[in-house]
Amino acid sequence: MKISISYPPLVSKKGVACLGQNRQFQWFNIPTYIYPVIPAYAATLLEKNGYEVMWDDAIAEELSYADWKKRILDEKPDLIAIETKTPTVKMHWKIIDELKAELPQAKIVIMGDHVTARPEETLENSKADFVLTGGDFDFMLLNLANHLSKSDPLEGGFHFRDANGAIADSGSSDISKHDLDTLPLIDRDLTKWKLYAYKNGNFKYTPGAYMMSARDCWWGRCTFCAWTIFFPGKKFRTMSAEKALAEVENLISLGVKEIMEDSGSLPVGKWLEEFCQGMIEKGFNKKVTISCNMRITGIKRLETWKLMKKAGFRFILFGLESANQETLDRIDKHLRVEEIEPGLRLCKAGGLEPHITTMIGYPWETKEMAEKTISLAKSLFKKGYVDTLQGTIVIPYPGTPLYRYCDEKDLLLTRDYENFDQREMVMKSPLSSGDAKGLVQDLYKAFASPQFIMRKLISIRSLDDVKFIAKAGHKWIGKIMDYSQKDGKDCQ
Ligand code: SF4
Repeated sequence: MKISISYPPLVSKKGVACLGQNRQFQWFNIPTYIYPVIPAYAATLLEKNGYEVMWDDAIAEELSYADWKKRILDEKPDLIAIETKTPTVKMHWKIIDELKAELPQAKIVIMGDHVTARPEETLENSKADFVLTGGDFDFMLLNLANHLSKSDPLEGGFHFRDANGAIADSGSSDISKHDLDTLPLIDRDLTKWKLYAYKNGNFKYTPGAYMMSARDCWWGRCTFCAWTIFFPGKKFRTMSAEKALAEVENLISLGVKEIMEDSGSLPVGKWLEEFCQGMIEKGFNKKVTISCNMRITGIKRLETWKLMKKAGFRFILFGLESANQETLDRIDKHLRVEEIEPGLRLCKAGGLEPHITTMIGYPWETKEMAEKTISLAKSLFKKGYVDTLQGTIVIPYPGTPLYRYCDEKDLLLTRDYENFDQREMVMKSPLSSGDAKGLVQDLYKAFASPQFIMRKLISIRSLDDVKFIAKAGHKWIGKIMDYSQKDGKDCQ
């Protein structure tokens, strides 16, 4: 049985689609290719179980739609798995129907947070055969392949049509029975890791790579966060630190210089200590640099940040989201405004490079409230507590508590999924879409203080530093363009 894990080209004037590893979908003006870790585990697991696997990421390969279609029609997979997000699901329905017209024998399964929230919708609007709900694409694609080829029973979490054409399901998905330690080490060659090793602004050192030791975030409750749909915090799982270190070792053997550990929030406590000690004892800290996501209150001791620094950690991404307590409470961030600055200062004092993500356009936030967030970002940059930032427009994805809130309060300006791509407001708010884009641009401009630029220039120690600063400048211009007032419309 031949199985393809496919990312068909998605043609849009808004830029390049970033689907994999993306808790909030974005189009990028400057191509950015993020390695889809869970689909990569799926490809490896399927191959280890005797299936022929085709890694088919035509977006990262920069294939035209025609070339991709010709290739997949020539390859004739028996099962095609496609990952989607809210803004792209309509494009995927069209592509699935085209594929089914030409490859009627192939089974098509679609997966992702959007279809997990609304599985029936895809079966009603496309000829997809299966919808996989939940985020464990790896364990579940193996189960589906075994079901199709060996008549194994389907585990919970699949939706499909029964013999009469009615929509049926296999019960609810249960991720807690999937033990991450039973997964094989990712086969990086099978999954063409080099496609994702360079075009990623977060990498200071290349080639870079992604790994994910946990699913997904030990908090897992923020009301806007799309991956909490399939990885709620109460079902948080990790692989052992030992297994995570084996992934690092494999990446080092391939020549990887920087790793993004992309769990929603890196595991803390004993796990983190074991991981850091292992990095140091095995000498991996001398060979590779690591970045990760972390909650601002996740680490309270300077010694822990110092241990992480010693273990090779560099870039730490924090979700700050807003400088308004009302917002932090409403989105269930479990963070006090007064904890933000000390938390970032501590991280910086440990020798790490903090990055913050912030959002504009909450339905209850006035312009003054949004400006408070920008002003906090500016002050954090000025004081040297953060190195980089990401600003976006907040989007309520179907299935999240924020979407339900907007639905109940009649706060949605549109229900057209194409608009849920962070380029415009889809929630009613005191801000217009133009205001929100302008404010996101202001956020990006926030770090251009003379003090910050001077500090960056003084910190240059190597050619890598120069290249990284140049790359960051390029990315900064891209972000300003992403939120320009003149976005194109999709043109598939
Ligand atoms: S802390 Fe981050 S990853 Fe975790 S639920 Fe909140 S937004 Fe999602």
